[in-house]
Amino acid sequence: MSKSTDIAELFNQYVMHTYAPTATLVSGSGCKVRDPDRMTYLDFTAGIAVHNVGHCHPKVVKAIQDQSETLVHCSNLFYNANQALLAQKLSKLSLGGKCFFCNSGAEANEAMVKLARAWGHEKGKYEVITFQNCFHGRTLAMVSATAQTKVQKGFDPLPIGFAYAEYNNLESVKAAINDKTVAIMLEAVQGEGGVLPATEEFMVGIRKLCDEKGLMMLCDEVQCGMGRTGKMFGWQHYPVKPDAFTLAKALASGVPMGALVASPAFSDVFQPGMHASTFGGNPLASAAALAVLDVIEEEHLLEQAEKMGALFMEGLNQFVDKFEQVLEVRGKGLMVGLVVEGSAKEVVDACREMGLLCCVAGQHVVRFVPPLNIKEDEMEEALDMISDALDQVYGEEEE
Ligand SMILES: *Cc1c(COP(=O)(O)O)cnc(C)c1O
Repeated sequence: MSKSTDIAELFNQYVMHTYAPTATLVSGSGCKVRDPDRMTYLDFTAGIAVHNVGHCHPKVVKAIQDQSETLVHCSNLFYNANQALLAQKLSKLSLGGKCFFCNSGAEANEAMVKLARAWGHEKGKYEVITFQNCFHGRTLAMVSATAQTKVQKGFDPLPIGFAYAEYNNLESVKAAINDKTVAIMLEAVQGEGGVLPATEEFMVGIRKLCDEKGLMMLCDEVQCGMGRTGKMFGWQHYPVKPDAFTLAKALASGVPMGALVASPAFSDVFQPGMHASTFGGNPLASAAALAVLDVIEEEHLLEQAEKMGALFMEGLNQFVDKFEQVLEVRGKGLMVGLVVEGSAKEVVDACREMGLLCCVAGQHVVRFVPPLNIKEDEMEEALDMISDALDQVYGEEEE
C-alpha cells in the first residue's frame, strides 16, 4: 500500500464518493506536501485554509505529542485547563465574551443558529437571513442556510427558518427582514462562493440594520478567520463587531475543532442542558489550537499574510493583463481568488501537473489559500507554475 494507484483503488472501493480526489498525499512540512511516489507539491490548498501555520508546524506537533501522553479527552462533565485558556484567548482577541467548542464548521454554525433561536424564542423570532453563494456547511440545517442549489438539491424538505438575500446588496437584506427575523449571518469574505469580500458599506449597513431592528449579527469565520485575511478575524477589516462568530478550519491546524464565540450580551443564553458536544474543546484539540495562536503571534503571521498576499496578488494581476480569459484577482490577505472566463477546474488541474495544489471556489474562481508563513521563494515558484499552467490552458501569450 505504498503506491498512489493502489491507495486510490482501495479508497474508491471503500470510501463514499462525496469527493473526487486527485493526488495522494503522505506527508507535509510547511508549504510542501509529498505523494507516495516522492513527487513534491507546493500546497496552496493547505487543507482548504486549515494549515495557516503550515503542515506539521514543530510547535503544534509538540503540543499534540505532549498532550496525547497526558490526557487526550475527558468529557465536558469535567473542567479542563486547555479549553479555559483557549476560550480566554479567543475572547480577548475578539468580543470579550464566552465560547462554546465543537468539532467542525457546520457544527459551530449550528450552535450559532441555535443560540440566535434560543435568544429570540420568547419573541417568536427564529428566521436567519443568509446570502446567495454563501457556504455554511453540510448538516441539514446548514444546507438550508447555504443558498446554493448545488448544495441543496435532492435533500428536500429542508429545515425552515432561513431567508436569502443578495451579498453586498443592503436593499435586498432590508426586503428580507420580517417580524420572524432573528439574525443576519454572513461571511466577511465569501469562501466557497468565489472568494468575494464584503464591501465596507455592506458590513456597516448590516450592523446598523441589526441595531435598528434588534437582530443579531452573526459572522461565519470558518474560512476567513485565524489570520487568513491579514487580520485575526475577517470582520476586523471593518469598523463593526458581530454579536457572535464561528471558527473551525484553521483553529487547531487539522485536529478537528470548531468554536462559537459570543459577545458578553449573548454569552449566557445557553444554560446547562441546552447544547452540548462530546468531543468539543477536549484537551488535545485545545492544546493544538493554543499552539496555533502562539505561532500566529510569534511569527507575526497577520503582517505576513497581508504582505505576502499583496505580493501574490500583484503577481497574479500580471496574468489579467496577459490572458484574455483571466478576468480578475480578488480576496484579502492570503485568501485569494483568480476569476477566469471558463472552467476554473481546468486551471486547477494544470497547476497540479506543474506541481502546485490549489482548488476551485465556484465554477469560475481558482482559489489560493497557502500557509501564512509561506516563504518568498515559494511564492515566486508558485507564480511561475501558475504562469506555465495558464500558458498550457489558454495557449500562447497575447501581445
Ligand atoms: C468549510 C466551511 C464551513 C463548513 O466547515 P466544516 O468543518 O466542513 O463543517 C462552514 N462555513 C464556511 C465559511 C466554510 O468555509
